[in-house]
Amino acid sequence: MSVTHTLETDVLRLQDPELAEILLGELRRQSTSLQLIAAENFTSPAVLAALGSPLANKYAEGYPGARHHGGCEFVDVAERLAVERAKALFGAEHANVQAHSGSSAVLAAYAALLRPGDTVLALGLHYGGHLTHGSPANFSGRWFDFVGYGVDAETGLIDHDQVRHLARNHRPKAIVCGSIAYPRHIDYAFFREVADEVGAYLIADAAHPIGLVAGGAAPNPVPYADIVCATTHKVLRGPRGGMILCGSELAERVDRAVFPFTQGGAQMHTIAAKAVAFGEAATPAFGVYAHQVVAHARVLADRLAAEGLAVTTGGTDTHLITADPAPLGVDGRTARGRLAAAGIVLDCCALPHGDGRGLRLGTAAVTTQGMGEPEMVRIAGLIADVLRGETDPARTRDEVRALTGDFPPYPA
Ligand SMILES: *Cc1c(COP(=O)(O)O)cnc(C)c1O
Repeated sequence: MSVTHTLETDVLRLQDPELAEILLGELRRQSTSLQLIAAENFTSPAVLAALGSPLANKYAEGYPGARHHGGCEFVDVAERLAVERAKALFGAEHANVQAHSGSSAVLAAYAALLRPGDTVLALGLHYGGHLTHGSPANFSGRWFDFVGYGVDAETGLIDHDQVRHLARNHRPKAIVCGSIAYPRHIDYAFFREVADEVGAYLIADAAHPIGLVAGGAAPNPVPYADIVCATTHKVLRGPRGGMILCGSELAERVDRAVFPFTQGGAQMHTIAAKAVAFGEAATPAFGVYAHQVVAHARVLADRLAAEGLAVTTGGTDTHLITADPAPLGVDGRTARGRLAAAGIVLDCCALPHGDGRGLRLGTAAVTTQGMGEPEMVRIAGLIADVLRGETDPARTRDEVRALTGDFPPYPA
């Protein structure tokens, strides 16, 4: 059954037409515009079904077999299944699937390993560090003493010499590797070596690439990091949520850092949906998908560069591209607005030379829709046309509608 059909015939339509109309409007928006936000994807109808299931009713504080509530016999099985699938998928000794989000996973990782006031070395926010990597507006920046490493202004690549130098000088308790905007693979072996040299824990925040890891299209941080934090809703294509992977020696500390330290009752419907997504991600079809996502990002990056955008690091190893549209005579913020008006939805991001804003886009969602390399070429052309301001946005909007019409994310 298609999602549209479910919504149209669902009780929601009868009981709350006002809200049903909002949901259908969002479904139409997702289906008729181009979703190039690098952190987004289209979950399967099976994942949506688990999310909308009666497991949403269940209180389940604690862990399977040790709950503070009765009646957990079924949700315990669901959580054990999610944990076992996550462990098998990533080759981890332990998995915690309760973290409500990627940020909650990072909070729990810090809670498991650090004390307030400890020094942490992470990618600076101006270079693609996440809010949880030391933003003054976030708990991380208030409770820990963050030192930021950067990327080389010319190449856009992580400055390994600087990482080593800062680690030696500041002797951090933990080093974080992971980013919201870094398009290249992270050298986890390098970070492990530096962490060992200065006696620091290594936390890999793999929120973005974890889906590529699941599909064998990106290196796995699990053998290198003490704790791996991740989301389940980006390339991994599961429900909105977080996950933590670690070795058995940290299992109890990580579990206690999630519950009871930073969270209460687990969201069992989401955990069931995570189990569904892990099951999907373990199939050969998902491996094909993950490799296609990267191949598509490479084509898109090449075409954007050919159109004149300054693509950071000259390309990508992942699903993610960042680029400066300035050579086409437009800054990132203006570009994002113009593209949105034409039905092309993407983000702004910081640029390595620290000057102005760039564009960040990804190929996870369009690849799920079934688009291929010819469509990537077409998308790059549409983006360049809009940025040059030479075509009528309404005409581009029509072209976007025609393109997305051929690749419905939830076929009727
Ligand atoms: C997306 C992301 C997060 C946060 O995930 P939320 O679910 O939005 O809290 C944390 N770290 C990195 C590197 C991310 O990309």
